[in-house]
Amino acid sequence: MRNNLYVLKFGGTSVANRERIEEVAKIVISYIKKGINVVCVVSAMGDTTDRLISLAKEISPFPSEREMDMLISTGEQVSSALLAMALHKKGYDALSFVGYQVGIITDTSHTQARILKIETKKILDALRKKRIVIVAGFQGATEDGEITTLGRGGSDLSAVALACCLKAERCVIYTDVEGIYTADPRLVKGAKKLRYITFDEMLELAFLGAQVMQVRAVEVAKKFNMPIEVKSSFTRKEGTIIMGKTKFIEEPEVRGVALTENEAKLTICNVPDKPGIAASIFTELAKNNINVDMIVQNVSHKKITDISFTVPKNLLSKAEKVSQKIAQRIGATEVLSDCDIAKVSVVGVGMRSHPGVAAKCFSALAKRKINIEMISTSEISISCVVRKKEGKKALQVLHKEFNLDRIKK
Ligand code: ADP
Ligand code: ASP
Ligand code: MG
Repeated sequence: MRNNLYVLKFGGTSVANRERIEEVAKIVISYIKKGINVVCVVSAMGDTTDRLISLAKEISPFPSEREMDMLISTGEQVSSALLAMALHKKGYDALSFVGYQVGIITDTSHTQARILKIETKKILDALRKKRIVIVAGFQGATEDGEITTLGRGGSDLSAVALACCLKAERCVIYTDVEGIYTADPRLVKGAKKLRYITFDEMLELAFLGAQVMQVRAVEVAKKFNMPIEVKSSFTRKEGTIIMGKTKFIEEPEVRGVALTENEAKLTICNVPDKPGIAASIFTELAKNNINVDMIVQNVSHKKITDISFTVPKNLLSKAEKVSQKIAQRIGATEVLSDCDIAKVSVVGVGMRSHPGVAAKCFSALAKRKINIEMISTSEISISCVVRKKEGKKALQVLHKEFNLDRIKK
């Protein structure tokens, strides 16, 4: 471990304008003054990435993925150069780099690339010369020098992967909230900031909709056991530490709740109920790279049934086309799609040893007359699909039911 090295990541809101970039420069300098070496990773300013994507879609509804990467990787280049300039103005030696300049090598999956390796020599050389290194987040390049991006929210992954490869002491994610809360503080008023959370719980919360950390970034942190601190670049208060173990002797049953409206439901109606049908439906969807989340098969009447499943909303039209083809082949009558759903989830490693968490969830929703349309569980989470207009209320109900507004840390 390089004891004196921190990787600091600043998200879009933290570098949204000139004033914010100058504030970030002050935060970076506060580490340097303590004798800590710093590698910064920055996101694009504010909603730059969204705006670049909309611009591309105005020109072409289906832009080439290579050109999308050429376009959307530029946002992070702008903010990293501006942060270097802000540090120069205050008399500090800083150098900004885009992903390929610091050897972030990825596979060739444009817009969703995976990091294969990071050649750290250039960064280590600059650190040895006592320079502050700034890296444009969210991007890398293939072995052939083609620019790639790492999926939405990918600057988190850039920061964590760099921290792991550089053997940094810690990775600090600066964002626009004070840490990881028991629920999105923008949706649940009484949400409480957690002092600690385990990698597993953070992974599950992120996967189930808490966008505060990118899922893949938490996966990498867990794999390399890299502690992450999530804190605000606005208030400088103590944040949340994400790590392997918490200091509880026994874990509480539920640590947080999450909501996502990013899924849609498809129903294949009047499917013959016989062996091999589910296999053929889900094999075909998998072949088309459509990841299915929840699956429900109705009780069969006269050997005919309905099968419903959820898919990410951005894959809905592809999933509909594939499902219609399958429906024809297996003799089902129609395919219905439904975008008006939300998924609420409760997460906690303690539920492994606390019986009755599912019953408590379902009763709480029933008491508020919220109908549950689909259910799925993992070892440490329970998720329910409800009508979209009831999603936020369902989240608040579950937050209250598990007394998350009263927890101490
Ligand atoms: P950044 O631009 O810094 O990467 P993001 O917008 O990606 O920031 O993530 C921060 C946002 O995540 C917060 O503004 C908050 O609304 C949302 N969020 C969702 N769930 C949680 C949670 N459990 N704790 C904290 N923030 C959450
Ligand atoms: N700018 C990219 C995005 O908006 C990456 C990031 O912010 O982490 O997804
Ligand atoms: Mg983010």
